[in-house]
Amino acid sequence: MKYGILKISLIFFFVACQPELVNLDKAKKAVAEYYDYGTYEKDCKKLIDEAVEFIETIDPYDSNAVVFDIDETALDNYRYIKSIGFGYILDEWNKWVNRAEAPPNKEVKRFYDYLRSKKIRIIFLSGRHEETYQATVKNLRSAGYTEYDTLIIRNDNELNVSASEFKSRIRKELAEKGYRIIANIGDQKSDFEGGYSGYVIKLPNYLYQVD
Ligand SMILES: [Mg+2]
Repeated sequence: MKYGILKISLIFFFVACQPELVNLDKAKKAVAEYYDYGTYEKDCKKLIDEAVEFIETIDPYDSNAVVFDIDETALDNYRYIKSIGFGYILDEWNKWVNRAEAPPNKEVKRFYDYLRSKKIRIIFLSGRHEETYQATVKNLRSAGYTEYDTLIIRNDNELNVSASEFKSRIRKELAEKGYRIIANIGDQKSDFEGGYSGYVIKLPNYLYQVD
């Protein structure tokens, strides 16, 4: 009897813990609708409007800087990701990055233009790999991000470090160099973990997750 109750309890426990599965076709359709029908852009606009309101309250130090993530932040890879039926294959992704054709996220570009008009320093910090550096510079330029203090991406020794460890270490180093990081804009939690982030602007990303 005792074991019977234990067995029923265990079955209940596993059923309760089972995540609700979603049909993959339906999930992809829902995600595509979110991006294609303007909800993504609307959500980004709201976040940028709030960020601008915050920046307006900041004292204008010369060392004021905002950290920008690149993928699904400054640059928008949605069309490419949708064109392959969603998902991620490293070699294919690198080929896409090397084409340097990603358009800007319009709202993020608006934020960038606003910050430049305020003479606030821009730092690009991305988990992209070293071999894509030139393509990244080229793509940022073609997307209109022509003025920034620095662009930092991972070198070969840092490929096994988590995104949050890598990015928080770099932000700490930037702060030690004298940058006053007043805000940080990205699309992943790992863009902000570990401090030195300032005001956090977390954009939505329903395409992938980076830990
Ligand atoms: Mg990103």
